[in-house]
Amino acid sequence: MIDDTLLPALKQVKYPGFSRDIVSFGLVTGATVEGNRAVVALAVSTADERIPRLLKQDVEQALATVQGIEGADVHISVTVPKNAGHGQKRNVQGPEQQRLPGVKKIIAVASGKGGVGKSTVAVNLACAFDKLLSEKGRPHQVGLMDCDIYGPSVPLMMGMSARPEVRDNMLTPLENFGIRVMSMGFLLDESTPVVWRGPMVMKTIQQFAANVDWGEMDILVVDLPPGTGDAQLSLVQTLPLDGAVIVTTPQGVAVSVTRRGAMMFGKVNVPLLGVAENMSYLENPDGSKSYIFGQGGGEVAARDLETPLLGQIPLDPSISQGSERGIPSVIGHPDSTAGQSFVEMARTLLTKLEL
Ligand code: ADP
Repeated sequence: MIDDTLLPALKQVKYPGFSRDIVSFGLVTGATVEGNRAVVALAVSTADERIPRLLKQDVEQALATVQGIEGADVHISVTVPKNAGHGQKRNVQGPEQQRLPGVKKIIAVASGKGGVGKSTVAVNLACAFDKLLSEKGRPHQVGLMDCDIYGPSVPLMMGMSARPEVRDNMLTPLENFGIRVMSMGFLLDESTPVVWRGPMVMKTIQQFAANVDWGEMDILVVDLPPGTGDAQLSLVQTLPLDGAVIVTTPQGVAVSVTRRGAMMFGKVNVPLLGVAENMSYLENPDGSKSYIFGQGGGEVAARDLETPLLGQIPLDPSISQGSERGIPSVIGHPDSTAGQSFVEMARTLLTKLEL
């Protein structure tokens, strides 16, 4: 229970290093007023001993501003996460991370803003991973989790529309083209107003991670919502990510947006795997290229972020047509430049991830 008189002050306290407050992160397990003292209990999961100290100090300071309160007893219960299960150390731990025991690697596909082709890249990378892993004798080892609550386009792009089954309280991913898929789009009613979706993210994603029976797989690709706000940050904290791919476009202005997106991963120590530049050029019938959206954005962003430019995907009408028909380019147009560039990117990523 959180006493109403203390709530506004507690909401002012940010989790160290993050823009999100401790109440919305669900860290406050109790806050009551006893006489003229506030008694507050927090539960945090962190391996960094500075965090509880900072939290205590910040909570005390915030409560000192509440009228009628003359002191605070702040109790913090700390659990140390064993490790994220994916071989990485994180200095900053937010809310408890979900572990997906049968999944070897989890990567996020992110972008600073919408409409750059993030979902297109996520879907085609998933198909390309399956193609390459199948060649190595490991088919059906890829999952795709669509967390883009604002516009879950993966079901359409993958040609799927059914509702996932629930077995023993676990959601069973749907499968197409050998990829196991779970999407917010399968679960959200189209009439759910977008404004409601923000606050739902954290909960829904945790449910996603905890209640989806992904089974055993080599790699799970997570399509994040576009942007760099709190919803993205809590997702990035919740999932034990092994790395992130940032999708951008060739325009110069995209660089600063991309940088913001990448900084989010830096905060939680998720390594950047590289930049994918999409809509890079139009291929002319004579083989020459027209750079209609400018040139070099991906390269500048990659240099700036000290991460490789994984590839450049041309503007190709068959990509958008394929999206609408529910057949990703890697499947429907494997010999196109776009189809091949997705496969090359996937090859680089598999090597990096040691798969
Ligand atoms: P985001 O996930 O960043 O919002 P999408 O992947 O949904 O973007 O792509 C937005 C639109 O652009 C979709 O209609 C998609 O088919 C189209 N699109 C994406 N990449 C390309 C490309 N390289 N060539 C042509 N159309 C593309």
